[in-house]
Amino acid sequence: MARTMIVVGNWKMNGTLEETLKMITELKHKLEQDPTEVVVAPPFTALYSAHVALQESTTTTMKLAGQNMHWETEGAFTGEVSGTFLKDAGCEYVILGHSERRQFFGETDDKVNKKILSALTLELTPIFCIGETLDQRKSGKTESVLEAQLKKGLAGIPMNEVKDILIAYEPVWAIGTGEKASEKEIEDALHFIRNYLAKIYDAPTANSIRLLYGGSVSSENAKAIFATKNVDGLLVGGASLIVDKFLKIIHSRAQ
Ligand code: PEP
Repeated sequence: MARTMIVVGNWKMNGTLEETLKMITELKHKLEQDPTEVVVAPPFTALYSAHVALQESTTTTMKLAGQNMHWETEGAFTGEVSGTFLKDAGCEYVILGHSERRQFFGETDDKVNKKILSALTLELTPIFCIGETLDQRKSGKTESVLEAQLKKGLAGIPMNEVKDILIAYEPVWAIGTGEKASEKEIEDALHFIRNYLAKIYDAPTANSIRLLYGGSVSSENAKAIFATKNVDGLLVGGASLIVDKFLKIIHSRAQ
């Protein structure tokens, strides 16, 4: 089955309720006839209102994602949000293992794995982020880092469930820096990821998993990234916060 293109906007810790709803409303109207699957991840506090705003439209295909979640469904975990609550607020996706979570909030591969398992149980689609740092790339460790993150992050996930996961290759050095990976670097990394998935599952399963690229995607470079082999979608941070730029990125996909 053909893998359908997807564009995910990670709004990070940006946007009051009012600002988020303004962006959602504008995107919803302007994307009405667009066949691309578009997912946005606003801050937790705006998710439910965004969901209500999207439900008011009968034609939109835009979906919502959480930016993180806890692996337990409820309990004494002050400050955390579970997948159950993300679903309750209208999410269908959840970004897991983002490098900012790994870098600033002690997110280990083991925790990411527990979150992926929990998301799958709750029927939330995980957008599983992996990627190497600049030091790791410079010392030739890119593939071993990707392999370790995949191996640990996907531990215990059976073949029939791994198909539901989106994997986002996000080199840490490209996130928020304006320095995107070259098409060759993206192609090589995604080729490695798909081959590794074929090794630990099988080729049809690996071929059914959507692979995304993220890291300084802009309205200027999106077209070339979309056209890169194995790219099934984009994960966009900064540029997704400006509606016109985000729309330009979505529209730069060859129809
Ligand atoms: C991200 O946060 O996932 C990301 C890719 O950010 P940016 O597009 O700003 O580099």
